[in-house]
Formats: sequence, C-alpha cells, structure tokens
Amino acid sequence: MSAAAGGGWTRALARGVRGRCPRCGAGRLTERWFRLRATCPRCGLALAPEEGSWTGAVVVNFALTGAVFVVTLVVLVALTAPQVPVGTLLAILVPVSALAPLAFLPVSRTIWVALEFAALGRS
Ligand SMILES: [Zn+2]
Repeated sequence: MSAAAGGGWTRALARGVRGRCPRCGAGRLTERWFRLRATCPRCGLALAPEEGSWTGAVVVNFALTGAVFVVTLVVLVALTAPQVPVGTLLAILVPVSALAPLAFLPVSRTIWVALEFAALGRS
C-alpha cells in the first residue's frame, strides 16, 4: 500500500509524531526509550528494513534539537534584550542542547519511519 492509498504524507507524519505506525496507526513502536521494535505489533510493518536506516532518524533528531535550540535562544534574547546575560544563556542552552537529543530520540525514530513509509510506499 502506498502512502497515498493509506492517507498520504500528512497522516503518516502525524502518526510518526505520535509514535505510532504510519501504516495502521496502532501500537507504540518503541519498546523502551532507546529501542525501536523490529516490526509494528499490529500490521507487521518492518520499522528498520535496511542496514543504516537509523541515520535518517539522526537527521530528524538533529533538526528537532536545532529547532529547540533556536527557539530557546530567540525567546531568551527577546526577553532579556538589550542586556543579554551570556552566562545565563549558556547555563540554559548547554543543558537544553545536551538533553534535547535524548528527549527526541523515540519521536525522531518514529518520524523517520513515517517519512520512509510515505516516501517509499513500503507495504
Ligand atoms: Zn502497523
């Protein structure tokens, strides 16, 4: 079934953001925080069908972390301008930048599964 037949990119991506299977929409795809299931528990969709398919999740994770960093930076600068406390900014941004990749790990994987599913139309 192609992504178009299953509801398209939007549906697949929305399911991926919620940690659900892009094909059937059911089942949590992560066993633990750091582990993605091999297949969807309901429909059997292979979640990592190719060697190295996790690299896409790294890109998604980097993008999400970068977005959080930029939004946090802009908000902090906007709130403190014109006298921006650089030390305080670093004290906030460094931990945010270190923890965000861990926080986004499960969702970055399920988003990548959804993008792969929508792009390749895997069945
Ligand atoms: Zn499924």
